[in-house]
Amino acid sequence: MKKHNFYAGPSILSEYTIKNTAAAVEDFAGMGLSILEISHRSKEFVAVMDEAQALVKELLDIPAGYEVLFLGGGASMQFCMVPYNLLKKKAAYLDTGTWASKAIKEAKLFGEVAVVASSKDKNYTYIPKDYLVPEDVDYFHITTNNTIYGTELREDPSVKVPLVADMSSDIFSRPVDVSKYDVIYAGAQKNLAPAGVTLIIVRTDALGNVDRPIPTMLNYKTHVEKGSMFNTPPVLPIYSALQTLKWYKEQGGIKAMEKKDKENAAILYDEIDRNKLFKGTANVEDRSIMNVCFVMNDEYKELEADFNAFASGRGIVGIKGHRSVGGFRASLYNAMPKNSVETLVEAMKDFEKQH
Ligand SMILES: *Cc1c(COP(=O)(O)O)cnc(C)c1O
Repeated sequence: MKKHNFYAGPSILSEYTIKNTAAAVEDFAGMGLSILEISHRSKEFVAVMDEAQALVKELLDIPAGYEVLFLGGGASMQFCMVPYNLLKKKAAYLDTGTWASKAIKEAKLFGEVAVVASSKDKNYTYIPKDYLVPEDVDYFHITTNNTIYGTELREDPSVKVPLVADMSSDIFSRPVDVSKYDVIYAGAQKNLAPAGVTLIIVRTDALGNVDRPIPTMLNYKTHVEKGSMFNTPPVLPIYSALQTLKWYKEQGGIKAMEKKDKENAAILYDEIDRNKLFKGTANVEDRSIMNVCFVMNDEYKELEADFNAFASGRGIVGIKGHRSVGGFRASLYNAMPKNSVETLVEAMKDFEKQH
């Protein structure tokens, strides 16, 4: 029986993605070869790369002047690539969690960093709102979804400087006004593909403006000029990413994903708010629709391990919270079927009846 997969990342992928990936591991594009053993420069794989880039542009309605890259190194590599390529003197960052603070740490290696606000004072349970972004910065960096803490910024902030965003865990879950951004990056393993590839959307005019020498592999220009084929790209994850992108399109695109994601999240949050055993950890207005974090109410704290076991008896996996929050985290990425969310809610209801 297929389990109900709530892992935060690597995480659930559509059946379409997994089936087509498995088939290509056997025989790719009718070549009589596995995708694992062919050249990334074969016309068959070049077509995969081209189609994946084109579909990202189509789904996110990316305007002219931007390039789509598929690189290795994870979102964590982008923490340094962004300032390496874009930070001339000063950048602004919003500190909304562990990933944001890791990005800040790297940026400080390259110049002045203004942390305009932080929600660390309350263990990152909210998104700061009243902050001022200085106008003399090269960019303002945000983390749109805080995977660990379950908070999310579901709109593109209005500021006078270019935005840079880590969208690792919520890309393709809402329409984005890409024209506001210099760079958007996302590790694939939350909402796109298996681990090993990172999606980057970069405004080409934003490149080439820093004085420092940039190592070839860390220079966005290298990859823009070579169409993400400067060196061997992560062939299999890119193939899987293409399958997911096709599936998104077939499902009705990003708006359809957003509608479904919101419905799934509402089903679970409603139960958390209703059930006497549980409570949410994130500030209600900043709740993420991708990662739903909750804990047991104080008087039921000792039941935490029991609920984990109870849920796992019903085929529910991956709901243990991150160690810095505790409790539970149910990740509801785009591929999450409503049925799995309902199964979790049912388990919460039945567990409540026993206590
Ligand atoms: C998972 C995650 C990362 C780290 O991604 P890697 O690909 O492991 O480097 C960074 N930012 C966010 C928001 C994440 O969810």
